[in-house]
Amino acid sequence: MSSEHKAQPAAFFDLDRTLISINSAFTYARYERRRGRLSLFTFLRASLWMGLYHLSIVDIEKAFARAVEAYRGVHTDELMKLTRQFFHEEVINTIQPGARQVLQTHRDQNHPLVLLTASSPYMSKLAAQTWDLDDWLCNQFPTDDQGFLRGTFEPPLCYGPGKVHRARRWAEQNQIDLEESYFYTDSFSDLPMLEVVRYPRVINPDPRLRRAAIRRGWPIEDWSDRS
Ligand SMILES: [Mg+2]
Repeated sequence: MSSEHKAQPAAFFDLDRTLISINSAFTYARYERRRGRLSLFTFLRASLWMGLYHLSIVDIEKAFARAVEAYRGVHTDELMKLTRQFFHEEVINTIQPGARQVLQTHRDQNHPLVLLTASSPYMSKLAAQTWDLDDWLCNQFPTDDQGFLRGTFEPPLCYGPGKVHRARRWAEQNQIDLEESYFYTDSFSDLPMLEVVRYPRVINPDPRLRRAAIRRGWPIEDWSDRS
């Protein structure tokens, strides 16, 4: 390999309230409740995101572990099927107008497009395939040989510094220069990943991230209302 070979940048995207206008964890909890089957997992996950700013990463990992434990023995095919139904009914039309434009801009520059989200692998795969992203990095739930969930997740949680961990590993495997890359997100919890990349992009941010972005001089974009 020539030493002059330059690794190329990638564009990483958060999902909830970034590519899509909704928080899909909340929406999923509501969706399941309407059907009378709000699971412990979705309830905890939704509660978790609601109270997030008051929790440390360790607490989040603990709560997440308990939530995933409730899914032990469920088959991945069943979760994929439920998620697909939910995705087509509630998520597919929530893509933000600005997201489509920015995805295309990066596609035109041959930047790999990578979803980087705390969502499930089922949701992430559907989102990546629907909006034509090249890959997805998310939480993974190990299964046994037959595809039944073991009730665990692959650490570290794909959240906060866990997103950096996954993005870095992916970048190394794909000859991508993470430090020259882009990352788009709405959430203060994504500060670690925003600080790693050269092009942090803050999208319809929560108040805490807005303040952080203003202090650092990061661009703030509104993706909710472009034509
Ligand atoms: Mg988000």
